[in-house]
Amino acid sequence: MTEPVHIGIIGAGMTGLSCARILKDAGHTPVILDKGRGVGGRLAARRAENGLQFDHGAQYITAKTEEFQKLIQSLMSVDAAGEWDMGERTGFVGVPSMNALAKALVSDLDIRRQVQVSSVTETEGHWSLAIGEETLVFDRLIITAPAPQTMALLGTGHPLSKQIAHVRLLPCWTLMAAFGDVAGALPASHRDPDAPLAWIANEKTKPGRTDRNAFVAQASSDWSKDHLELDKAAASDLMLNELCKKLDLDQSKVIHADAHRWRYAKVGIPLGEPYLSNASKTLFLGGDWCLDARVEAAFQSGTAIAETLLSEL
Ligand SMILES: Cc1cc2nc3c(=O)[nH]c(=O)nc-3n(C[C@H](O)[C@H](O)[C@H](O)COP(=O)(O)OP(=O)(O)OC[C@H]3O[C@@H](n4cnc5c(N)ncnc54)[C@H](O)[C@@H]3O)c2cc1C
Repeated sequence: MTEPVHIGIIGAGMTGLSCARILKDAGHTPVILDKGRGVGGRLAARRAENGLQFDHGAQYITAKTEEFQKLIQSLMSVDAAGEWDMGERTGFVGVPSMNALAKALVSDLDIRRQVQVSSVTETEGHWSLAIGEETLVFDRLIITAPAPQTMALLGTGHPLSKQIAHVRLLPCWTLMAAFGDVAGALPASHRDPDAPLAWIANEKTKPGRTDRNAFVAQASSDWSKDHLELDKAAASDLMLNELCKKLDLDQSKVIHADAHRWRYAKVGIPLGEPYLSNASKTLFLGGDWCLDARVEAAFQSGTAIAETLLSEL
C-alpha cells in the first residue's frame, strides 16, 4: 500500500477551502490551518449586540465560469446562498451571512482554527511549519494567505517570494453602522468609486437577513491608504459622518458603529497566473491575488492547485 501524503494548507478562505474540498473528495486528508476564529477569511461576517449582523468583507459574488456557477447552484440548493437584487445589478450572497458560503464547504474537512503559522521552512523535501512552540511537518504545502503575508512566511529571499513581490493588495477601511430607525426607503446599494465611501450596502435588503437598519460602508482605496494608521474609533467617526451625509441619515439615531481595517482587501496588481509552485511541486502559493479581486478568482486558484497536485501524486 502506498504511504498517505500529508498535505497542509495555510488559510481557510475560498482558495484554501476549494482546494481542500477537491483533495478530500479525491481521497486525501488535507489539514487546514487558519489563524482566524472561524472559516472564510475575507468572506467575513461580524455579529454585534441585539442580533445585529454585518458582512464586513466581500459584499457579493458573481460567477463567470461554469465551475463556479455550479458551486453557487449547489450552495443555493442547500440554502447557503441566495440572489441579491442591488438595484443596478444582481449578485449572489451567503445566507444568512457571507461566511455561510465558506461554512457550507467545510463539513468533513480537518480544519484547525486559531492556529497562526509564523514561518515555513523546507528540510529534506518536507515542509516544517512553526506554530508557537510546536512544529507541524507536511509532504506538500499550499499557502493561501494574501501575497505579502505569504512572503513573510517564506522569507523575502525565497525564490517564489521574489516572483510575487510585484503583486499589490489595496487596503479597505470598512464601517459597520446601525440605526434605530431611518426615514423612508433606502436603496439596496450605493456605488461611487470617487467618493470617500465608495460602496454602501443596506444589509436588510439581502436575502435571509433581519429587518434591522444595518449598513456596511467601504472607504475607497485612496481614502483607506490616506487614513490607514488611524485608530478604529477615529476611522469609524469619519466614515459615519460620510455615511449620514450620503444617505441623509440622522446621526442621533445611531445604535452601533464600528470599523474594521483590511490591510490586504482587494487585489490591485495580480500575479497573472492561477498559482505558483516550486520545481518539485511540493510547495504551492495561491489566492485571489493570483488572478483578480474576486471570490471567484480565489476559487479558480484553489481549484487549479488541487488539480495540479492530484496529477502529480
Ligand atoms: C472589504 C472587502 C470587500 C470585498 N468585496 C468583494 C466583492 O464584493 N466581491 C468579490 O468577489 N470579492 C470581494 N472581495 C475580495 C474577496 O473577499 C477575496 O477575493 C476572497 O475572499 C479571497 O479569498 P482567499 O482565500 O484567497 O483569501 P482570504 O479570504 O484572505 O483567506 C486567507 C486565509 O489565510 C489565513 N492566514 C493568513 N496568514 C496566516 C497564517 N500565518 N497562519 C494561519 N492562517 C493564516 C487568514 O486568516 C485567512 O482566513 C472583498 C474583500 C474585502 C476585504
